[in-house]
Amino acid sequence: MKSALVIGGGIAGASAAYFLFRLGVQVTVIDAGVHAASSVPSALINPVRGQSGGVDARALEGMAATWALLRELEAAGHPVPHGQTGVLRPVPHDQARARFERNLPPELPHRWLTRAEVPTPLPPSWNHALWLPEAGWVDGSAFTRALLEASGATVVRGRAQEMNGRWVVVDGEGNDRISARSTPQIIHCGGSIGSSWRHETRIHRRGSLLTLDRAATNVPLSFGAYLAPSATGGVLGATYETPAQRWSPPTLPLASLGWLLNKGETLADLGGVRVTGRWTGSRLSELRNGQDGNGVWHLSGLGSKGFLLGPLLARALAERVVEALA
Ligand SMILES: Cc1cc2nc3c(=O)[nH]c(=O)nc-3n(C[C@H](O)[C@H](O)[C@H](O)COP(=O)(O)OP(=O)(O)OC[C@H]3O[C@@H](n4cnc5c(N)ncnc54)[C@H](O)[C@@H]3O)c2cc1C
Repeated sequence: MKSALVIGGGIAGASAAYFLFRLGVQVTVIDAGVHAASSVPSALINPVRGQSGGVDARALEGMAATWALLRELEAAGHPVPHGQTGVLRPVPHDQARARFERNLPPELPHRWLTRAEVPTPLPPSWNHALWLPEAGWVDGSAFTRALLEASGATVVRGRAQEMNGRWVVVDGEGNDRISARSTPQIIHCGGSIGSSWRHETRIHRRGSLLTLDRAATNVPLSFGAYLAPSATGGVLGATYETPAQRWSPPTLPLASLGWLLNKGETLADLGGVRVTGRWTGSRLSELRNGQDGNGVWHLSGLGSKGFLLGPLLARALAERVVEALA
């Protein structure tokens, strides 16, 4: 049977493992279990990004692929908390709306709502509201876990220290040294921490979510920060720390906490909502998607679109890996 080795069990690696399995490949996943950005308690599947409303050319296809995958997992007995609830993007003023309108492709289902139409009350400072009916949210941890389970992959807990196109050396728990020689195809999906471990100079951005005892609004809201439901209540989150060239351990400086709470208050009335915890993660930008000169495949640098584009890109990569195995 054909086999492959995936390094990293976040949404990139878990999706790659799943699609390789679907193509008849037996997969081993090596995951250090250290800092997966994909363990985010609630991530938006949101095709319209940032404060200028940029839309990635693959956003529509990516969104459809992610929802289809979640349905497929559910049908196979691996349900994942999520909601294709629609996402509301409040927009502060006419200039910002004009920027959004320039970026919105006509084929993307969307509608500008009047104040009377918005599905959740908006503070008066927002003059416009863009409704994205096909967007929604997903529990990141549960999604990656379900993909790994459904892929039937053998998951090895350890850190891949050295690799080339044919072998990987892993330092496992208790510093056992496992060699996976003669492995036909290796796919590196190490995310932010994996990139730093490889001494790459790329862009890392830290951000935090406050977990809430309940969803603060009827539907997810996003501008600067986001409010969304989660499996156990809700979240208020954003990626907002200054970009850095390396991964840094998750911390939430008090000033950042103040910033996040402020952003949340501009989106909705948070009176009566209780904070139950905090999650901090680091995401890596600059997409890397393909094979390097040593024959190692890569899928990393998914930025803020890990759940929007990760499954779609992993599916395409898995097809290329299988062609190489033929
Ligand atoms: C605050 C915040 C909010 C976000 N919100 C959203 C959102 O709303 N929507 C969205 O789509 N995206 C969002 N993202 C981005 C998304 O979380 C990431 O793009 C995505 O999770 C990255 O997935 P990944 O698999 O590439 O990396 P990761 O999830 O970081 O996984 C990498 C894994 O590889 C392992 N690893 C690394 N190197 C090695 C090695 N050498 N050996 C073994 N294991 C290794 C690590 O331990 C880790 O488990 C957010 C990110 C943050 C930080």
